[in-house]
Amino acid sequence: MIIREDLADVEPYRWQEGWEQRIPPGTAVIRLDQNTQPRPPAWYAGSAAWLASVAVNRYPDSSYLRLREAISEYTGFPADQIVATAGADEGLTLCALLTLSRGDTAYARQPCYGLYEGATALAGGVLADRPDGVRLTWVCSPHNPTGQDSPGDVPDPNGGLVVIDQAYIEFGGTDLSGLVRERDDVVVVRTLSKAFALAGARVGYLLAPPAIARKLEAIRPPGSISSFSDALAVRALTEDRSLMEADVAETVAERERMRPALSGLGWQISPSSANFLFADLGEPIEPWISRLLSAGIVVRTFDALPTCLRITIGSPAQNDQVLEALGLAPRAPAAPGERTGRVERSTRETRIDVEWSLDGSGRSQIAAGIGFLDHMLTALAFHSLTDLRLSCLGDLWVDEHHTVEDVAIALGTALDRALGDRAGIVRYGDARAPLDEALCHATVDLGGRGHAAVDLPLRDVRVGGLPASLVPHFFDSLSRAGRLAIHLQGHGDDDHHLVEAAFKALALALRQAVAVDPGRAGSLPSTKGAI
Ligand code: PMP
Repeated sequence: MIIREDLADVEPYRWQEGWEQRIPPGTAVIRLDQNTQPRPPAWYAGSAAWLASVAVNRYPDSSYLRLREAISEYTGFPADQIVATAGADEGLTLCALLTLSRGDTAYARQPCYGLYEGATALAGGVLADRPDGVRLTWVCSPHNPTGQDSPGDVPDPNGGLVVIDQAYIEFGGTDLSGLVRERDDVVVVRTLSKAFALAGARVGYLLAPPAIARKLEAIRPPGSISSFSDALAVRALTEDRSLMEADVAETVAERERMRPALSGLGWQISPSSANFLFADLGEPIEPWISRLLSAGIVVRTFDALPTCLRITIGSPAQNDQVLEALGLAPRAPAAPGERTGRVERSTRETRIDVEWSLDGSGRSQIAAGIGFLDHMLTALAFHSLTDLRLSCLGDLWVDEHHTVEDVAIALGTALDRALGDRAGIVRYGDARAPLDEALCHATVDLGGRGHAAVDLPLRDVRVGGLPASLVPHFFDSLSRAGRLAIHLQGHGDDDHHLVEAAFKALALALRQAVAVDPGRAGSLPSTKGAI
């Protein structure tokens, strides 16, 4: 036998399988089987040019010092207690290889994350049914697949290594990393795949007592984290972390919305401290899986648990689609003062996610991948006192056209959805905004008909990072999708000033037009009686 006898039956690790053939052709696929965040990090959209500066002809720094320093700053652990790994999975595997010899036993409470068995087997060990006398104990907290915070699973010192997998810790549960300082037999495993939304980059890390960290470092494959992933991870950790925290907070809020909603089907769902829910349906899951797959939604199932499924918390719009596919009301009708439009738009050219709340305070988080467009949309949200969140991954290597056009369409669609039937609004807005020598006049009508008349004489062929021709095109696309008339006239010596004044004037006009008019008393602002 060429291969090791004890590996003869080992199967590859796979995410959910067999769904591709069951999703109707043309239906957008929503992967809720991998426990990943619904969007890439906010800064990622514009990072292509920056990533091109990574020296791909050289190996990465095999000590990953810069990365470990960034992790140190994030976790409070010194760099010599941190081992950077190619995903938490490599960290888990290294722990098994470091501790287990042929025939040794390890323990994990069942059900457990599949890799514990795989890593144990790779090292030549076997998973035992009982925790006594094992050389390695796998603890998962928050627990996959149940989502439960499980600090009680940590055994007292038992002569073996205790590996505590906290891949989901940013979403809730008890931070057990303090045990690494208190005990010499505990290693904590973490990842940038989940909260930091970098699953595709494959970066994780171990927090370990110094002596164990040195040995783990010694047996790791050299340079297993690519230079690109190293750079992405450092950036994720050193960027403004409030962006990551806001995304995590949204996932947590959505989790708390989804649990009672899904429990309405009679499913048993325990509280979760992670970014997923584990449901025991108490009956065969197949009819429900069929409904979900018909709507393009992939969830995780388990051969050994035929009445259970695990569902990752997606974006608010994706979660609404889940509820709809299961025959549940997506969400309570918007309360007065809660006018939010959500759009997810995916084509071969762009992937866009927008949430626009008309009754906001001017906050925004914009990542369209074009700095100048981000700047303009930030101004649009700020001066219209609306809250706008937008991310776009577009084919900027072609040019900016698809991104600018599709962002405008998605924004317009979000505006249209947020306005609902448009009853009770002011409808019209008219405002001017100067920026130094530039002055722009904007008039809008939210009357349900899309039209843009844009007169902004730009001097150069490009403004900011954009071809000048895309400026009127943006307003045109916005007006059609948003079903509003936009009139813009301005002049100025500096193109940047002029376009910025246009966005600000538009913001001020929109602010008036979307406002609720008390005199209208909720009636439609149209003599036709329809918008
Ligand atoms: N631990 C647990 C409990 C997980 O669920 C996962 C991934 N699903 C991992 C570790 C692996 O994480 P990574 O992407 O960092 O390898």
